[in-house]
Amino acid sequence: MKRDYYEVLGIPKNAPTDEIKKAYRKKAKQHHPDMNPDNKKEAEQKFKEVSEAYEVLMDPQKRQLYDQYGHDGVSQTFHGGGFTWDDFTHFDDLQDILGNLFGGSLFEDFFGSTGRRPRQQTQRGGDIHVIITVSLEEIVSQAKKHFKINRFEQCKACAGRGGSDIGTCPQCGGRGQVQTRSRSFFGTFTSVSTCPQCQGQGEIVKTPCTKCNGAGRVRHPRTIEIAIPRGISTGQYIVLRGEGHHGRGGRGSIIVQFEEKPHEYFERRGDNLYLRILVPYSKLVNGGSVDIPSLNAKQEKIKIPKGSSAPEIVRARGKGMPRPTGGFGDLYVELNLKPLDTKDRDLGRIIEELKKYEGKPTPKRRNR
Ligand SMILES: [Zn+2]
Ligand SMILES: [Zn+2]
Repeated sequence: MKRDYYEVLGIPKNAPTDEIKKAYRKKAKQHHPDMNPDNKKEAEQKFKEVSEAYEVLMDPQKRQLYDQYGHDGVSQTFHGGGFTWDDFTHFDDLQDILGNLFGGSLFEDFFGSTGRRPRQQTQRGGDIHVIITVSLEEIVSQAKKHFKINRFEQCKACAGRGGSDIGTCPQCGGRGQVQTRSRSFFGTFTSVSTCPQCQGQGEIVKTPCTKCNGAGRVRHPRTIEIAIPRGISTGQYIVLRGEGHHGRGGRGSIIVQFEEKPHEYFERRGDNLYLRILVPYSKLVNGGSVDIPSLNAKQEKIKIPKGSSAPEIVRARGKGMPRPTGGFGDLYVELNLKPLDTKDRDLGRIIEELKKYEGKPTPKRRNR
C-alpha cells in the first residue's frame, strides 16, 4: 500500500507551498542515507518516498490530479509509470538542503559516478501539449474528439540513427554524460551533465542522413482521437503516454488539457448546473410543469410548485453533470418572472383589476 503524500510529509491537505518546502527540508535531512548509516536501505526508501511526495505536491497540476484521483491519477505522469529519480525536478532544492551537509555525496550516490541514471532516459522524445475546448453537451455524451499534431517520428531512411559512419563520441567516450567537479567551501561537488558534443547520444555521425539532416527523426502530421473522460472540467488533463514525439529513449507523452466552452443557458459549478428560466405569472401562481433546455437530446421538464415566487430556486436531483467517480450532480433552476408587455391596453386593465387582490409589498423571510 502506497502512503498518502500528505501523510508522508506530515502536512495538512491544504498546506501552502512554504509549508510543503519546510516539511520536505526536515524529512529529507532526517531520512538521508548518510544520516542513517545503520539502516541505509530503509533510509534510502524513505528518502525517495518523501521526495516523490514533494515532487507531486509542489507541482500544481500533479497535486490536483493526486487530490482528485489519488496515486493512480498521478503515477501516469511519471515516465516509467511510477516515480523514479528521473522524475525528480527539484535537485536545486536538494542541493540547498543537503549540499552543505554532505559535501555533495548525494549527487555521487544517486545521480553521479555510479551511473545509475540511465543515459537513454535523457533522450526520450518531447511531450506534446494540446488544449481542447469542449461543450457541456460533449462532456455529457462523452463525445469523441479529434485533433491534429505534427509529431516527430523515427526517420525511416536512416532507421533513426541519423546517418552512417557512426563512431563513439570522443568527448564522453560513449557515456553521453560528462562530469564536472567543483570545489566549494563545504566540499567538492560532482555534477553530471549531458555531453555537449553528442548531446547525450554517446556517438557521433560522420555522414548525416539527407532525409532528417542527421536528427534521426522527422515530423509527420497525425490525427489523434480521444474520448472525453467522464465529468471532465476546465484545467483537468489526461496524459497519453508513449504518444508524444519520438526519441531514442522512447516516445514522450501527449498531454491533453480540457477547457469548457461557456454555455448559452447553463452555468456549471463543480458537478452542479445552474439555469435561469422566465416563468409566466400564472404558472408561478398555479404551479405545473414547464419545458427546460437540456444537455442531451431528451426534452427535460421541471415541476414548479404551486404558489412559487420569483426569484426562487427549484432543485432537480441528479440532473446535473456526470461525476468523474459515478453518479450525477444536481440541477438548480432559478425561477424568474417573465416580463409582460406593459404597452398592451387590455393587459393594463387586467393589472389595474389585479391590484385589488395583491395587497401591500411585504418583506420576504430569509432561508425560504
Ligand atoms: Zn534520417
Ligand atoms: Zn559525447
